[in-house]
Amino acid sequence: MHVPLLDLTAQYAKIKEAVLAQVNEVLDPQRCIGGPKVEGLEKEIASMSDCAFAAGMSSGTDALLNSLMSLEIGDGDEVITTPFTFFATVGSIWRVGAKPVFVDIDPKTYNIDPSLIEAAVTAKTKAIMPVHLYGQMADMDPIMAVAEAHGLAVIEDAAQSITSTYKGRKAGSIGTCGCFSFFPSKNLGGIGDGGMIVTNDEKLHHRLMIMRNHGMEPKYYHKYVGGNFRLDPINAAALLAKLPHLNDWSGARRQNAAYYNDKFKDSAVQTPYISPDCETIYNQYVIRVPRRDEVVAHLQANNIGCDIYYPVPMHLQECFVSLGHKKGDFPESEKAAGAVMALPVYPELTDEMKDFVAETILSFLG
Ligand SMILES: *Cc1c(COP(=O)(O)O)cnc(C)c1O
Repeated sequence: MHVPLLDLTAQYAKIKEAVLAQVNEVLDPQRCIGGPKVEGLEKEIASMSDCAFAAGMSSGTDALLNSLMSLEIGDGDEVITTPFTFFATVGSIWRVGAKPVFVDIDPKTYNIDPSLIEAAVTAKTKAIMPVHLYGQMADMDPIMAVAEAHGLAVIEDAAQSITSTYKGRKAGSIGTCGCFSFFPSKNLGGIGDGGMIVTNDEKLHHRLMIMRNHGMEPKYYHKYVGGNFRLDPINAAALLAKLPHLNDWSGARRQNAAYYNDKFKDSAVQTPYISPDCETIYNQYVIRVPRRDEVVAHLQANNIGCDIYYPVPMHLQECFVSLGHKKGDFPESEKAAGAVMALPVYPELTDEMKDFVAETILSFLG
């Protein structure tokens, strides 16, 4: 049996007509930049996220980058974040000229450990960028308390956690702004790159909208240097067709996770810890196992897709050597990088597939 890590063709087969109909509404009138599909998606995502405003972006990465640019964070500034994340979080901080300041993770949730943030704040700190990893939100109350005490912005990297909740509050709605990604493998995946920034701050929203279009307002007058961070309407149209299914898909992922959890109980497999404060959307289902690399190789040999998010924490990446970090600086992130692996959890998985995945792991671990 072949079980891929993700099978988007299974999803597409069910929604093909709706996607094509939406996309044709962009193609027929040739409204290929901006327009009603982008605005329609912004409205839907803002409302779904309990935010007043949303701005479509060209990717999740550009959403993070534009958030930093629009908050005027740059040279000489520091931004506190986690080293256990996808590269884009830290890359965007670096690209605006600011210094990423790392804080280790809580080994249970894999999210930034809020109790360590205060000690990392300096006179140069401008923002905290928590990441809601794997679909579960970071512990936002203590993060917001530190931010408020020091007058810091909070940019939520919610690329993996659209519609996820913390104490009933939606991802992206607690910080200064929140960034989503529509990379095809995310719970709400587009037909290409795309992203969005949600906020309740009207001024910031206005700035984000200008900055995504070269800092231009009015036409050909540039008060700021922005970029081309626009979301394609073809992608927005496809996303509008997918949006009505998002909650069902996330629910199916939670059911698949519960199924695995049951299979793995009383075994050497450590299943995901979900805080009672959170409802996760399981963008990834991540376990910790002994002899991880052997387990990964064994699954691959059995035609089962799996991946490691992420094998090298950001403080140990070659491009950041000038920050002067070494092995041992963030031990929980390093331990997680050496022990985690993600299993297929996409909504269309059958029970037979999940059984095969679980049994292949359990028989290997003995
Ligand atoms: C996917 C992802 C991003 C980047 O999103 P893109 O749309 O691929 O640019 C940023 N941060 C995290 C945590 C992600 O998972």
